[in-house]
Amino acid sequence: MIIISACLAGTPCRWDGIAKPDKRIIEMVKAGKAIPVCPEQLGGLPTPRDPSEIANGRVISKKGTDVTAQFDKGAQIVLRLAKLFECKEAILKSRSPSCGSGKIYDGTFSGNLVSGDGITARLLKDNGITVHTEEDNILSGE
Ligand code: SF4
Repeated sequence: MIIISACLAGTPCRWDGIAKPDKRIIEMVKAGKAIPVCPEQLGGLPTPRDPSEIANGRVISKKGTDVTAQFDKGAQIVLRLAKLFECKEAILKSRSPSCGSGKIYDGTFSGNLVSGDGITARLLKDNGITVHTEEDNILSGE
């Protein structure tokens, strides 16, 4: 079983209230191979919501609200689900402050990327779960 970002499965859970559906991911869910989760919603944030980015180790919304606690809570719930379903892998939305893996926005809301992981991606990796993004080759050819 694989943990996947719910927005990739077509759930309109993104900060702006839209989905980012990926046909390959949706097929995985239909086949019973993947569990969709949205850590920001699980952490208690509303949809739509103010977009957030990570800066100096904190998650700050564009309006200046510190939402680190909600991001941490959502990540812990995703980890719990991953353990419950014995997931060894995740495919998470690239560049998100929750789900991004390897590259995330730099905290200035200017579209610039820096090396790093979103809060949930980092927690999953720290617990031995391999995290891919939808842009990785793992999905090509499926
Ligand atoms: Fe998608 Fe993750 Fe953002 Fe939720 S937190 S909308 S699953 S990228």
